[in-house]
Amino acid sequence: SIRVRFAPSPTGMFHVGGARSALFNWVMAKQAGGTLVLRIEDTDASRNQPEWTEGIIRALAWLGMDGGEYEGPYFQSANADKHAAAARTLIDAGRAYYCECTRDDLIARAGGQYKGYDNFCRDRGLEPGPGRALRFRSPDEGQTTVVDLLRGKPVFENAVLEDFVIARADGSVTFLLANAVDDISQGITHVVRGEEHLSNAPKQQLLWEALGAEPPVWAHVPVIVNEKRQKLSKRRDKVALEDYRAEGYLSDAMRNYLMLLGWAPSGDREIVPWEAIVEEFRIENVNTSPAFFDVKKLRAFNGEYIRALPPERFVAECLPFLEDAPFEVDLGVFERLAPLAQTRVAVLSEIVPMVDFAFLDEPPYDEQSWNKAMLKGPAAEILAATEEAYRDVPWETERLKTRLEEVGAAQGLKLGKTQAPVRVAATGRTVGLPLFESLEILGRERTLARIAAARA
Ligand code: GLU
Repeated sequence: SIRVRFAPSPTGMFHVGGARSALFNWVMAKQAGGTLVLRIEDTDASRNQPEWTEGIIRALAWLGMDGGEYEGPYFQSANADKHAAAARTLIDAGRAYYCECTRDDLIARAGGQYKGYDNFCRDRGLEPGPGRALRFRSPDEGQTTVVDLLRGKPVFENAVLEDFVIARADGSVTFLLANAVDDISQGITHVVRGEEHLSNAPKQQLLWEALGAEPPVWAHVPVIVNEKRQKLSKRRDKVALEDYRAEGYLSDAMRNYLMLLGWAPSGDREIVPWEAIVEEFRIENVNTSPAFFDVKKLRAFNGEYIRALPPERFVAECLPFLEDAPFEVDLGVFERLAPLAQTRVAVLSEIVPMVDFAFLDEPPYDEQSWNKAMLKGPAAEILAATEEAYRDVPWETERLKTRLEEVGAAQGLKLGKTQAPVRVAATGRTVGLPLFESLEILGRERTLARIAAARA
């Protein structure tokens, strides 16, 4: 059966591109009853941090891939002996040689411009030594054809594949060798990874062959771009999965959306249950054109997933966000507000400003809202009349509404206009949850106190 792997380098916050690769691999393994291997490529000691590795594992678990879903994690740094042995095998077979050329040497020999490696040391038979790197001897003739499930069979002329470095002058092996050796020793059958690695595939395939292994099947999934069609970058774009999680994206929505970066389910559907995705996904149907990471669309997805939650799940999902809020939540009150909010939040963090009015002693007056609602028209008259009218009204949504309609009618105003100052007095803002339901939950005493305070 198939063995696939996800092989991230823990050099930063785990990002959406990595998450998509992990998901594609996971789904492929699930469908085939195969195995997903998690390999942390931690050989670049200067750029690795243990917390990035923890972040990867945590993010995978959040997406549904806990430890039971993959083999590993393995750490590339633990395979140093295998990498060194592979380098020795290649030297002994005459497929690798030592080279002492510096970049400056190459530039000088090429007339002042770097034009790649010129095979200068190829047949010099240099011994290993300080300042000497190890290069792979690429064939001068023939072609390397990689089988890529998305791209057919790209053919690379061996003559243009230069003699690339497999171990640096300091003895450390390069990505090309370490990655190939680990894939071979871990029995990987399919390499599914980002398009930025397509140009590495022929070089790595030559390594697989030179090490006596049957090359894998490849699949290079398309780059992910932002709305300006630029490749997503961690400096420019919001790419960290952790940030989306912190903002209140649901893992189900995220995982559904990430699967659509290059792939589409059948029919017009985009929001699809996970089971259906696992059934329908085909790596060979992933497209090769750049995939647009549309944050607006992701938000809309998330809103739909939120609305579909059972009410008690919605409450539970909101609680962590409310725990971080600067007020004490009364759970009974929140459970009454939650159904009003569930249809109105696109990301869970939006719950906080939506319900804070019910938990703070004073509503958080928003200055713009205040100016808009209180300084225009007959706001003072409305508040005075409402305070009066609400003193003895049965405290219930419909009655509160009818009373306010009457207050407005006396001023020749429609309900929308009449509501604005009352809403700002009671909740601090011009927009929010439905007003009369909110007032019913807030209660008579607090509502009247706030109206009185706003009039003062
Ligand atoms: N560590 C490499 C990366 O994160 C892995 C590439 C691969 O999947 O082969 O880009």
